[in-house]
Amino acid sequence: MTAEALAGAAYLVAALLFILSLAGLSKHETSRGGVNFGIAGMALAIVATVWMMVVEGGFDSPEVMTGLAIMVGAMVIGAAIGLWRARVVEMTGMPELIALLHSFVGAAAVLVGWNGAFDDAVPAALVDIHHAEVFIGVFIGGVTLTGSIVAFLKLSGRMSSKPLVLPGKNILNIGALVLFIALTVWYVITPALWLLVLVTALALALGWHLVASIGGGDMPVVVSMLNSYSGWAAAAAGFLLNNDLLIITGALVGSSGAYLSYIMCKAMNRSFFSVIAGGFGIEAPKSGDEEEMGEHREVDAATVAEMLANASSVVITPGYGMAVAQAQHGVADLARRLRERGVEVRFGVHPVAGRLPGHMNVLLAEAKVPYDIVLEMDEINDDLASTSVVLVIGANDTVNPAAAEDPSSPIAGMPVLRVWEAENVIVFKRSMASGYAGVQNPLFFRENAQMLFGDAKDRVEDILKVL
Ligand code: NDP
Repeated sequence: MTAEALAGAAYLVAALLFILSLAGLSKHETSRGGVNFGIAGMALAIVATVWMMVVEGGFDSPEVMTGLAIMVGAMVIGAAIGLWRARVVEMTGMPELIALLHSFVGAAAVLVGWNGAFDDAVPAALVDIHHAEVFIGVFIGGVTLTGSIVAFLKLSGRMSSKPLVLPGKNILNIGALVLFIALTVWYVITPALWLLVLVTALALALGWHLVASIGGGDMPVVVSMLNSYSGWAAAAAGFLLNNDLLIITGALVGSSGAYLSYIMCKAMNRSFFSVIAGGFGIEAPKSGDEEEMGEHREVDAATVAEMLANASSVVITPGYGMAVAQAQHGVADLARRLRERGVEVRFGVHPVAGRLPGHMNVLLAEAKVPYDIVLEMDEINDDLASTSVVLVIGANDTVNPAAAEDPSSPIAGMPVLRVWEAENVIVFKRSMASGYAGVQNPLFFRENAQMLFGDAKDRVEDILKVL
């Protein structure tokens, strides 16, 4: 068997391992196995690629050995940085880390494209296709690169989560796409360097604009969409490098990311097209004016403890603030204590609460909250009207009535937990600040709602002391 055939067989096995990995990652119980399949597939792919390079080039070729040394050096540095980041990252910092990693895939695709543009060993019959591959690869990579950087800046709070609304933004986006198609045809006919420079600048600007135009509430879709783009960018690089595994892997990531974006859009009642087109058709948001909403009422921990002790049913709706405060253990204790006293306690989890899909479920599982009392939004929503007390622990956008009641709100139409229907609502947060989408929450001003200000962990502990 030739070196190439052997590497091809190894690639096939690696591709199967990646498919098993995706299958494993789709369920909570099998996700660890999924990660292990992914690691095994990637290790096999790297070994096969390096081995093929060395065997084809010859062990005695100084050029191959230099390439090998550079590659191993780069891998060691990259792995060290990756290990360090993965170890120190907080759970709340995961989305921005993922966004940053997507930007690296975009940058790699741009570099591979540029490198491909200078490849003069392409057979004459394939030259036109090669030029198209270069151009498309650079374009997808460029959009992914800056789009992911903007997502990183927004998710890490370094840039406002409010959508950028440039005049004629939809025309700008459509114009950029039309220009890209025209430039591609031009480049295939006359592959001039300035065209490549132009498409790189166009892609970088478009990526920036597309993601900057999307509001905070829609960021979960953006993260999965950029995941999809990074897959297509990798597939484009695979075509240029003539690497089948990179094409397969890129297509797997691209299509699964696209499907995840579609599921997220359905869960959030958003148009898939509108989000991928940078908020196409979404008007400039009008966030509610706090003063118009009236007065809010404050409550102290002792009063909340008494209210809970006398309640027949309690629903806890956690959000991003619970993750920030690391209040999940105290909250789990509170639920256990109340259940021991005969109070019915359940959790209501919104699909995009926190900053990662499944974020709240992971935290509650870590704090050993029994699975059977953790319900999805659709399972709990109809029971909220007959609930004595709802504890909103650091959630905001996911319990905002404006989504259901105010068609002019930037989060209008997004399904939310209807906590305001309960008899009493206690909101744990530190101030009257708005949630991630930058929209004020009318819930805080309702008759049946009271604010328990302070760090969620401290306030939960105060209640536990009284109970
Ligand atoms: P939000 O981000 O809307 O609000 C969180 C609230 O927690 C804030 O209002 C904040 O108020 C409060 N808070 C922060 N720190 C603390 C603390 N230490 N103690 C008490 N409260 C605290 O949360 P939700 O979970 O309701 O909504 C998630 C939002 O994030 C949605 O808009 C969603 O679209 C978006 N998103 C979700 C992603 C996902 O995949 N799940 C990914 C990206 C974005 P204060 O500062 O006053 O304390």
